[in-house]
Amino acid sequence: MQTRSTSKSLTDRDHQVIWHPYTQHKHKLSPIPVVQGKGSLLWDDKGKSYIDAISSWWVNIHGHGHPYIAEKIYEQALRLEHVIFTGFTHEPAVTLAERLLPLLPGSFSKVFYSDNGSTAVEVAIKMAVQYWKNDGNARRRKILALRNSYHGDTFGSMSVSERSIFTAAFRDYLFEPVFIDAPGGQNIGELQAFLREQGEDIACFIYEPLLQAAGGMHMYEAPYLDMLLAAAKQQGILCIADEVLTGFGRTGELFAGSYLTQQADIICLSKGLTGGTMALGVTAATEQVFEAFLSDDRRKTLFHGHSFTANPLACTASLASLDLLLAPDCLRRIREINTRHSAFAKKLGAYDVIRNVRILGTVIAFEVNLGEDGYINAIGAEITREAMEHGIYLRPLGNTVYIMPPYCITDEELERIYDFLEAFIKDKQKARS
Ligand SMILES: *Cc1c(COP(=O)(O)O)cnc(C)c1O
Repeated sequence: MQTRSTSKSLTDRDHQVIWHPYTQHKHKLSPIPVVQGKGSLLWDDKGKSYIDAISSWWVNIHGHGHPYIAEKIYEQALRLEHVIFTGFTHEPAVTLAERLLPLLPGSFSKVFYSDNGSTAVEVAIKMAVQYWKNDGNARRRKILALRNSYHGDTFGSMSVSERSIFTAAFRDYLFEPVFIDAPGGQNIGELQAFLREQGEDIACFIYEPLLQAAGGMHMYEAPYLDMLLAAAKQQGILCIADEVLTGFGRTGELFAGSYLTQQADIICLSKGLTGGTMALGVTAATEQVFEAFLSDDRRKTLFHGHSFTANPLACTASLASLDLLLAPDCLRRIREINTRHSAFAKKLGAYDVIRNVRILGTVIAFEVNLGEDGYINAIGAEITREAMEHGIYLRPLGNTVYIMPPYCITDEELERIYDFLEAFIKDKQKARS
């Protein structure tokens, strides 16, 4: 038996054995050992705290180490930690589907479980493609997606995402959707005309409603998305809302779709679903989509599933998270964060190095305009570094700075983030003039 060396630091041990996501290991990095989390705060092994201003990659909504969620997971773990989900079912999966379906923006009737946002998207695409196959429609082969989109890191979800440095190595192996610009006043007429001409060749349209997050926190307006969705639906195109990020209060409403009158046929959820505690994905479909798979012909089955499909612990965490989310004080807090963001936005108006301040629900984003745009831009890394020194964790997308806090963040913690950013910007502005 191997015993682990206690003389080496966790960072050194990490260097030996870990390959981190989105990390170039050529540059010796020292990941910070996090030993505890409580509310919006994370503590490192030296006792320093950091405000988690981006909700641990956009997943955490109720804060870290929430005792209510933790207890529910513990109780469930003692009862049933996991079971195969074909031929078996269990209370947490059924109850979660029963509670989730009436909350979703649209008339969804079935929940399909998977493991994360990317798999939720994979399932959605497979549902939409096979829907037309099962229907005997050989014509609808095209998939419509938005430029600047991000739907995940698996091959199908990469394929429907904007081509970028992240997908460059795999380009030859990705299928090609038809990319259109996010709808707005300038292009909506053109997009409607395009759908009138080519709609019958299109199987499905996948979109991140109102907020293209990984694509640079780009926000676009509900009325134009409604017009585009209406045109798509008129052509019989299946609409897939990727609410992996926008779900569960992030945009100020329970779902981004709550701002829309046109509703999707398939919706993808993950990130905040479990409160950010565990990995779980949901793809919900309308009865019409589901029924296209009912047949005596076995080939019409949706052949998809993961080892941990509908994991009871993850479903239980989601039920606990829903309890917390739907409590009046959580919904009020979401509105208060929005109000605070708006006040900060007004302050930012005083700095001409700041461009395009935008807010949706609990998300505020803006560009710091010093050099060129894009992900590989030194300003982002500089902000992360300085913020860490101030006990704040921020992770800009290039020169796009954003705050996306857990809903439990306190006013004082929010002010600390705003004050840090304003001081940083003031410095930059001074240095430039
Ligand atoms: C994060 C994200 C995904 C991918 O989810 P993972 O759980 O990271 O695989 C998909 N779609 C959107 C809109 C996302 O923000």
